[in-house]
Amino acid sequence: MPDEFGLIKRYFSACGAASGDTLLGVGDDCALLQPPAGEVLAVTTDTLLAGVHFPHNSSARLIAQRALAVNLSDMAAMGATPRWFQLALTTPDADQDWLAEFSAGLHVMACEFNCALVGGDTTRGPLTISITLMGTVPSAQALKRSGAKPGDRIYVTGSLGDGAGGLAVLEDKLSVSTEDANYLKGQFWQPQARIVEGLEIRKFASAAIDISDGLLADLGHIAEASQVGAVVELDQLPLSEALQRAVDSERGLNWALTGGDDYELCFTVPANKLAQCQRLIDEGVLTATAVGQIIDGQGVRCVDKQGAPFEITGSGYKHF
Ligand code: ADP
Ligand code: MG
Repeated sequence: MPDEFGLIKRYFSACGAASGDTLLGVGDDCALLQPPAGEVLAVTTDTLLAGVHFPHNSSARLIAQRALAVNLSDMAAMGATPRWFQLALTTPDADQDWLAEFSAGLHVMACEFNCALVGGDTTRGPLTISITLMGTVPSAQALKRSGAKPGDRIYVTGSLGDGAGGLAVLEDKLSVSTEDANYLKGQFWQPQARIVEGLEIRKFASAAIDISDGLLADLGHIAEASQVGAVVELDQLPLSEALQRAVDSERGLNWALTGGDDYELCFTVPANKLAQCQRLIDEGVLTATAVGQIIDGQGVRCVDKQGAPFEITGSGYKHF
């Protein structure tokens, strides 16, 4: 069995899409990276712990892809282009088959999103994957949480609640047809990072966040950072057909609002930019649905079809 450095060389020295922006990658004390002129670095870290963020004994390939996907989702929410990442891997036994699968999964995902593994750290212990992803964005175009204004429309990409549905299937808490099970599990393991969408909406969105803890919680972060309130129109929430078949509408809405693990974008659009946003939707460049309105005030509330207030129990996944 190769030593630590042999392992790194074998599995992690050529992972992802090599690029001229990487002056020096894996193998020295630091990586040397060259951001494009006029752009700033966007940096984010997410950690996945076995037994907490995914079931024990999950596929190494899927773990790798999910670990990168959740970081890519943060990059998308900033309107940034992913370029490089570092991997801090803690493994109980450095099993070769596991590492081969893991690095293969990571490589595929990194190539798809045009970023490269440029360094990291390898330690022994309970399985933990921590990725730091670096991207770049023209600083004036970075999509912060703090830019929403009363009158802005609230949009979400894709559909909501599938991540929670997928986890329920994985944990044998939900029985559905094989086809729907595969779709929902796929949404959990390989959430589609909305990088392309992020690059498009940064031209007109006033604020954005990715939905990792449920729409209510994450839209709440936009509301707080922007010092505004938000109203969610429940009948507008986009639920996939698979989810609608799998659970009743109350559970579907609950998962959409508080389930988490969706990794879609929630963004706000000023009234004078709505036409620009709608054009992208019509052209099929952007799959997004208007789900509410930014208002004066604070907090997030929900209304039903008639505009009557609607109470939701639970407020998204909390880690503590
Ligand atoms: P140092 O002791 O100087 O911190 P390490 O021995 O931790 O360096 O790592 C040696 C090289 O291998 C460094 O370039 C580091 O970035 C890289 N590296 C270590 N672990 C990983 C990993 N899991 N994935 C990618 N690169 C790694
Ligand atoms: Mg060193």
